[in-house]
Amino acid sequence: MSTELHQLGVADLSARLAAKTVSTAEVTSHLLARVAAHEHLGAFLCTDVELALQQARAADERRARGETLGALDGVPLAHKDIFVTTDFPSTAASKMLAGYRSPFDATVVAKLKAAGTVTLGKLNCDEFAMGGSNENSAIRPVRNPWDAERIPGGSSGGSAVAVAARLVPATTGTDTGGSVRQPASLSGVTGIKPTYGRCSRYGMIAFASSLDQAGPIAKSAEDCALLLGAMSGFDERDATSAQQPVPDFAALLRAPRDGASAGRPLHGLRIGLPREFFGAGVAGDVTQAVRAALAEVEKLGATLVDVSLPRTELSIPVYYIIAPAEASSNLGRFDGVRYGHRAAQYGDLLDMYRKSRSEGFGAEVKRRIMIGTYVLSHGYYDAYYLQAQKLRRMIADDFQAAFAHCDLIAGPVAPTVARRLGSQTDPVAEYLADIFTLPASLAGLPGMSAPAGFGEGGLPVGLQLIGNYWQEAQLLHAAHSFQQATDFHLRTPEGY
Ligand code: GLN
Repeated sequence: MSTELHQLGVADLSARLAAKTVSTAEVTSHLLARVAAHEHLGAFLCTDVELALQQARAADERRARGETLGALDGVPLAHKDIFVTTDFPSTAASKMLAGYRSPFDATVVAKLKAAGTVTLGKLNCDEFAMGGSNENSAIRPVRNPWDAERIPGGSSGGSAVAVAARLVPATTGTDTGGSVRQPASLSGVTGIKPTYGRCSRYGMIAFASSLDQAGPIAKSAEDCALLLGAMSGFDERDATSAQQPVPDFAALLRAPRDGASAGRPLHGLRIGLPREFFGAGVAGDVTQAVRAALAEVEKLGATLVDVSLPRTELSIPVYYIIAPAEASSNLGRFDGVRYGHRAAQYGDLLDMYRKSRSEGFGAEVKRRIMIGTYVLSHGYYDAYYLQAQKLRRMIADDFQAAFAHCDLIAGPVAPTVARRLGSQTDPVAEYLADIFTLPASLAGLPGMSAPAGFGEGGLPVGLQLIGNYWQEAQLLHAAHSFQQATDFHLRTPEGY
């Protein structure tokens, strides 16, 4: 029995806990042993066995007293190390923040704790969430369980791999330009980035504040719905969090559409396929898997319509101006005085800043700070930053034009399956791979990735679904319906 505990998703585990056929302490010990046995994947940056077992026993005691807090009570999770936590160090996988302890919990973490979840530890990621491969972690890269010589995607690579390798039923991630959707796609798990403003950014170590959003990664859309419900909501400590009612995402998965029948749950749903997402830039195996998944979605009652997002290509220069610009400002606080590593030896004050920042930041973070400072500098601001802001608006407008013809937009998440570790040395070529996730980020729209099939080398391919503002329930419903009819999300890499 205990050998299969790690296969359970959040909903199934929750049901077994409620039926008392398993205890939280039992699941927690089982998963902690699994985390230790799969150290080589590099998914976790730290764990706390004592604390997790203590939280697990407390959940079991609540249950024994009949005081269970809800569906997530007693469910083990782990958090991306971008969320600050009082119980663990919070490092953003950077040397700059080695050993840093926050005096408070990020709102998303606090909400999940209040729901009774057990925290196993913190998860590896690209340094300050900058990257799409997890190779930018200053600690170590994360390996993809489908092929240990491949990247898992990033920046939430540890979050995706912890779920893919069945080390924990669900995790939190953050997505600025694709960091929940892309690792979910490359690692064969399900992840959703909600509408900008849905989750509080309070306590998320800031990368690009106008883009950063939290999102869950799990084994299914149903499990993502359960987590997202608990993570969402207005927070007065984040001025950009929205005063938007939070629907019961998990209940809405089962709400039938008008005119739908058992075999056709997506009856009447119009899914737009942007022609720019199906062009020459996408690898054949990815297009094939995505097309096959869409044919399945069509069988479930949806109608596929052609749409256009004409400025898709421009999302790359626009994002790689705006995100570094915001990062250069956000990372100013890591100067060895207010926050972060301070060099052991230095001359004057300027020398202290220079040495501390040179030692504390990795190459990609430095590159972004330099790009960001440049595009914001006097004389270049109008030419770069201001232009990028104008184009950002036009990219958002393009989505609204497309949504006049469809309810959801679908396409690939990434142009290829997971590449080999160490196989990309050109940063600009790496940026190009973000082409399909950046548009929704720039527009602030919700997007998700659900396992759609497999490509070259048996590696997972994700289907991206993008919805209009606040339409997460519709995305989750479509993905859930697809998962009820297919089993891609249930497949595990060999040996896991
Ligand atoms: N790959 C993108 C980048 O490097 C997105 C990262 C993210 O969403 N955090 O910026």
